[in-house]
Amino acid sequence: MQKRLGGRDCGIDKLPITEYWDFKPSDRKVKSIQQYLANFAIIPKKELPAGAEFGVSYITWNFNCPLLLNNLKTYLCSHGVKFERRQLKHISQGFLSTNVKVVFNCSGLGARSLGGIEDSTVFPVRGQVVIINAPHIRQNKVRWGSDYATYIIPRPNSGGQVVLGGLIQKHNWNGDTFACDTQDILRRATDLLPDILKLPLEILRESTGLRPYRKAGVRIEKEKTKNGIIIHNYGAGGYGYQSGYGMANAATGLLVPNISKL
Ligand SMILES: Cc1cc2nc3c(=O)[nH]c(=O)nc-3n(C[C@H](O)[C@H](O)[C@H](O)COP(=O)(O)OP(=O)(O)OC[C@H]3O[C@@H](n4cnc5c(N)ncnc54)[C@H](O)[C@@H]3O)c2cc1C
Repeated sequence: MQKRLGGRDCGIDKLPITEYWDFKPSDRKVKSIQQYLANFAIIPKKELPAGAEFGVSYITWNFNCPLLLNNLKTYLCSHGVKFERRQLKHISQGFLSTNVKVVFNCSGLGARSLGGIEDSTVFPVRGQVVIINAPHIRQNKVRWGSDYATYIIPRPNSGGQVVLGGLIQKHNWNGDTFACDTQDILRRATDLLPDILKLPLEILRESTGLRPYRKAGVRIEKEKTKNGIIIHNYGAGGYGYQSGYGMANAATGLLVPNISKL
């Protein structure tokens, strides 16, 4: 993807990461991730911060989401994809343009209210992030608790922006940004990586988003309707950037079984 979108300036790049857990993740998960993560290492117990049970380090992909999405759109347009923005009341409206045979339903949280879908198992998980200017931070750091996550994620090709998070508030539909949440995020993030404060703290933005979760996980499914075929592909929750590429391959594979990967 990086190569196709124009190399290291396209909005995705590799950086080191350290992750700590307050509980031991399952052996299955650890075995799985160590098969595909570069430079994977388990951190010795004596090097873990107080309260952490387990930790790993590896090289990961970092996303600069606005830049990446823009570059992805430009790439798709140059390959003949046409974008049209419309609000649908019912999924069948997707078939109204001429010659539409297949509609991909990637409506995220909208799947809850979109006519013909109305999936009541879709729900929001509210998050808030604080974006700071910190060009000296060139690593990711994450701490997972049973009901919280603290993370520090530099944005590639952003001139030094770093995303600090986060919150995991299930069923909270509030899209507002709160000062108390910002303070809580800053406290946890600077505890986790005190180097953030090596330069004066410069907050660029605070923002809130609702992750589109689904109770049973993602829905990637083919449905035949009288209007044509619908391929459902929603419920990515907090992992749409990490798993969207795989989800898209699975969804297009339902339409054309032997399609080469995107
Ligand atoms: C604070 C926060 C932190 C996150 N961190 C990460 C992370 O570290 N890694 C990661 O991989 N992911 C992360 N995510 C999650 C990621 O943003 C989502 O998983 C991803 O955006 C889901 O993409 P999607 O296209 O499935 O849904 P969405 O991005 O929700 O897109 C759905 C689209 O459907 C449109 N739509 C819905 N209903 C209708 C309708 N009736 N008519 C027309 N259009 C409609 C909406 O307008 C929207 O454009 C985070 C999210 C938040 C909020």
